[in-house]
Amino acid sequence: MAERSHRPAPHPVVRRDPDLMERDLDVIVVGAGFAGLYMVHRMRQSGRSVRAFEAGNGVGGTWFWNRYPGARCDVESMEYSYGFSEELEQAWEWTERYASQPEILRYINHVADRFELRDHIQLDTKVVFAHYLDSESSRESGGTKRGSNGSGRWRVVTDDGESWTAAFCIMATGCLSSTITPDIPGLDSFAGGLYHTSRWPHEGVDFAGKRVGIIGTGSSGVQSIPIIAREAAHLTVFQRTPNFSIPAHNVPLASEIQAEIKRDYQGIRAQNRERAAAFGIHWGPAGGLTFDSTGDERREAYESRWRMGGLGFISVFADLLLDKRANDEAAEFVRAKIHGIVEDPEVAALLSPDHVLGCKRPCTDTGYYEAFNRPNVELVDVSRDPVERITATSLVTGEREFELDCLVLATGFDAMTGALHAIDIRGRDGLTLVDKWSAGPITYLGLGTSGFPNFFTITGPGSPSVLANMVTAIEQHVDWIADCLEFMRTQGHSTIEATATAEKDWVEHVNTVADMTLYPTCNSWYLGANVPGKPRVFMPHIGFPPYVEKCEDVAAKGYEGFSFQDR
Ligand SMILES: Cc1cc2nc3c(=O)[nH]c(=O)nc-3n(C[C@H](O)[C@H](O)[C@H](O)COP(=O)(O)OP(=O)(O)OC[C@H]3O[C@@H](n4cnc5c(N)ncnc54)[C@H](O)[C@@H]3O)c2cc1C
Repeated sequence: MAERSHRPAPHPVVRRDPDLMERDLDVIVVGAGFAGLYMVHRMRQSGRSVRAFEAGNGVGGTWFWNRYPGARCDVESMEYSYGFSEELEQAWEWTERYASQPEILRYINHVADRFELRDHIQLDTKVVFAHYLDSESSRESGGTKRGSNGSGRWRVVTDDGESWTAAFCIMATGCLSSTITPDIPGLDSFAGGLYHTSRWPHEGVDFAGKRVGIIGTGSSGVQSIPIIAREAAHLTVFQRTPNFSIPAHNVPLASEIQAEIKRDYQGIRAQNRERAAAFGIHWGPAGGLTFDSTGDERREAYESRWRMGGLGFISVFADLLLDKRANDEAAEFVRAKIHGIVEDPEVAALLSPDHVLGCKRPCTDTGYYEAFNRPNVELVDVSRDPVERITATSLVTGEREFELDCLVLATGFDAMTGALHAIDIRGRDGLTLVDKWSAGPITYLGLGTSGFPNFFTITGPGSPSVLANMVTAIEQHVDWIADCLEFMRTQGHSTIEATATAEKDWVEHVNTVADMTLYPTCNSWYLGANVPGKPRVFMPHIGFPPYVEKCEDVAAKGYEGFSFQDR
């Protein structure tokens, strides 16, 4: 029988006695990753009844699911962590410059324990629908609380058939949590080990002596390939599009560096919030415009950022994602590095991207390009010779058949909207979110959408989200939502809803900003280009500081662009 590993390993699941459950809540949160946990914490602090539902059988989100070899953050550990609690940030010790998945998962579990969040999180429970009960729909569904028919509340139903209502429904479902499995004929017939990087078995996988194939060379592929290559007898990498990768230069985190950061941790975080992507203060300011420097200065700048490692490379000059000529030069520098590392010039050429550097999230790696110098690693260009089918024992392209014992799918995510659309979400008058967003997501600030009162998305499309240090972006959203709920309580408002005008203007603004850059020039998941049939709309907002300023301004003006109803 096929060794299937899309599902996490079974764990004992603690179910609560349904009779003890409080079914009418102030707030329902969907998801228990970084976002869901902090949202639960803020709601508890404000004395609201709150429950988070999490499909996984543990907290952690991304870091619960993505257990593939080599999984680690690409924003440095000291920055990729919560800043809301000084005690927490002082107490926690990171061991590496870029923490590995097990360490980040330990950290998230520590947070759940430290802030006593677990009693408010129901694991192993998927939310299947979330419907806003306006007067019509609440009559039909026999809604509870608030008046006799429950109108003005959200009704949430989970995959165990339980039904809950709450005044507010907050989606912490993650930007990169809806896994894509490629539609390859015969995939289900593969009799070997089949693994998706985002659904990796908890007990790990032993590749020793195996012929392994991997499809996908985005971040997960780039991180896992060097490690699988060391273990497997043979590794075939099926690449459709090469991606730029910058060496992480990961090292154990020296205690002196950690202590120095902790001396002014909040100050450093504040400085990071002033940066475009909300991290990287230690890189120093971005250089000026590329061609204001001489050729020698530019070469030294690229070399210095390459030595530093990581995502800082793309802020080497301020115009890297604004000026194609500037980008071409930096991209050429990286391509030359690839050719310097990879011994076979044909393989180096295949690994060299020709798209704009940074318009897809660059990867950070440990020994990625070097892995292709190993005699047991083969690169196959499936853009030229596409995968046709999979049999019980092999992967077949137009020209060749590859016998495999294991197949790894590093095929990424239906980013930003995938997890939301997997839930049947309905707002006022039965309007579905899928219908409303059929031509692409429409939000105001990535926080709310008209027709869906008391419904918030944490790091939703239209917010900086995946273009920022996501923990910082999450904290900013959670704080904004928590403050907004407090405002409503003091003002006696029962519902809040984005106005159609505000969201129209906001979507236009997000697109205008994107169009001033080189971001929309390539087929990235920022644009939905990795999902067949998905509308091509640039989803994240570029630039963290102006976005935060806008959110603060909206709040200061009594939540301009939102409308309220009173009790
Ligand atoms: C391998 C990898 C590495 C990354 N590295 C970085 C990094 O270095 N820096 C960075 O800024 N970002 C990084 N990211 C992005 C990362 O997703 C975020 O940083 C962050 O973890 C997101 O937290 P979240 O809580 O918003 O979402 P998630 O962590 O994705 O959590 C969402 C949770 O919601 C649950 N869920 C979804 N739908 C339902 C439903 N219907 N019912 C119940 N539960 C549901 C999911 O099971 C999931 O556990 C990385 C992502 C990946 C995949």
